[in-house]
Amino acid sequence: MAISTTDPRTGEVLRTFDELTDEQLEDRLARAAAAAASYRLTSFAERAGWLTAAAQILDDRVDELAALMTLEMGKTKKAAAAEVGKCASVLRYYAEHAESILADEPVDASKVNASKAYARYLPIGVVLAIMPWNFPLWQAMRFAAPALAAGNVGLLKHASNVPQTALFMEDLFREAGFPDDVFQTLLMGSGKVEAVIRDDRVAAATLTGSEGAGVAVGRTAGESLKKVVLELGGSDAFVVMPSADLAQAAKVATTSRTQNNGQSCISAKRFIVHTDVYDEFLAHFAKEMSALVVGDPMEEGTDVGPLATEGGREDVETLVKDAVDKGATVVLGGERPEGGGWWYPPTILADLTEDMDLYDEEVFGPVASVYRVADIDEAVSLANGTRFGLGSNAWTNDADEQERFIRDLEAGQTFVNGMVASFPALPFGGIKASGHGRELADHGIREFCNIKTVWIA
Ligand code: NDP
Repeated sequence: MAISTTDPRTGEVLRTFDELTDEQLEDRLARAAAAAASYRLTSFAERAGWLTAAAQILDDRVDELAALMTLEMGKTKKAAAAEVGKCASVLRYYAEHAESILADEPVDASKVNASKAYARYLPIGVVLAIMPWNFPLWQAMRFAAPALAAGNVGLLKHASNVPQTALFMEDLFREAGFPDDVFQTLLMGSGKVEAVIRDDRVAAATLTGSEGAGVAVGRTAGESLKKVVLELGGSDAFVVMPSADLAQAAKVATTSRTQNNGQSCISAKRFIVHTDVYDEFLAHFAKEMSALVVGDPMEEGTDVGPLATEGGREDVETLVKDAVDKGATVVLGGERPEGGGWWYPPTILADLTEDMDLYDEEVFGPVASVYRVADIDEAVSLANGTRFGLGSNAWTNDADEQERFIRDLEAGQTFVNGMVASFPALPFGGIKASGHGRELADHGIREFCNIKTVWIA
């Protein structure tokens, strides 16, 4: 894929960028290694100051950054502005908490024949982040904030369709006062990722993106015996039981499915509804989905903009067409509009069967699949009947049912009567084909640390 900014509203290529040459890449790797040697010696207080300065820069430039993200990948500007704010919050979170999260953990020395023994969290070195376009600032920031707070050095290989946001990330940390080369953006295609992971100067890698990219990065990291965190796709279940507040569930279902124009790994994608409330929930859901305003994402009143890429829209259309050809009922949407740009309308499909690709595959656009189930056993079984295991939503006011979903849903996250979302203070990640490892909170910052055992006679 060419490295370029292309307006998804029209498909017009606005700016193209040259990929780093091999010599430039080598220079950047050398600089990252040199920076790691000294940056690891900085104090938590120094790093906290720089993280806080970066947060302030984001606060000061919200409008401009939001417009840039909207231009590069089509999310609504109001969502983009919220994303900038969230990035500032994760920077402040680790500025405030990194030192206590990574404080030495003493053990009872008498049990290990020592005078003193503890675990110490030390930085691991240079970490390569391969990031996607869907939350171009947030995905990269939720890697960068804990990595830099822990004393690691970051290299960002961002998606090829968000180069300006990628370049901003490097500028941001430089402007915030971090030492030179502590965070560098590598403008390069995915073909160069393998060599960078294998490079001796790189200690670890993290990827957010598709399963295919996850397999490639995981394989290379495995072969070079390097730590890797993978945050991949999801096909989250949204289970609605009879005791749920159906109107509220339908509102949240709509937001969850269509946030970011339907391109979120933790969007609810499969709506699994108890038969007793199926018709009523579907009526609420269709009403909410049909009320969404589709239009120019730069406009304040818009709820849903275009999809980010032409290929992404093709994937969505292919999945919908396959389901409809095999007998799915179109409750809403299902047809792309005429004209330029990569638009796709909010869509609801019902009466889905196992032979449809949509049954198993993640759909990365505003398309909801609705299923009817007879009881909680069938709901859990259908929810778990996917290779993905990222988030899950359970809507019920019955305490026993809530416990059952928390225990039995195969996912890295279960949100009860609310929408799956990421928060700086909560671990984020999946199981099964949704990946492994965790981002954010205590767990995320510790992923890329050398947990050193210290034993003193
Ligand atoms: P990709 O996985 O292709 O892209 C994500 C990142 O990985 C980009 O930086 C990309 O670089 C890089 N990449 C792609 N292939 C490789 C590879 N073989 N080795 C190393 N790096 C690689 O996502 P797409 O944009 O193509 O989206 C396709 C699907 O991925 C979506 O439909 C969705 O299912 C899933 N996805 C999930 C996301 C999530 O948040 N979990 C986010 C985005 C996508 P480049 O851009 O240069 O190709």
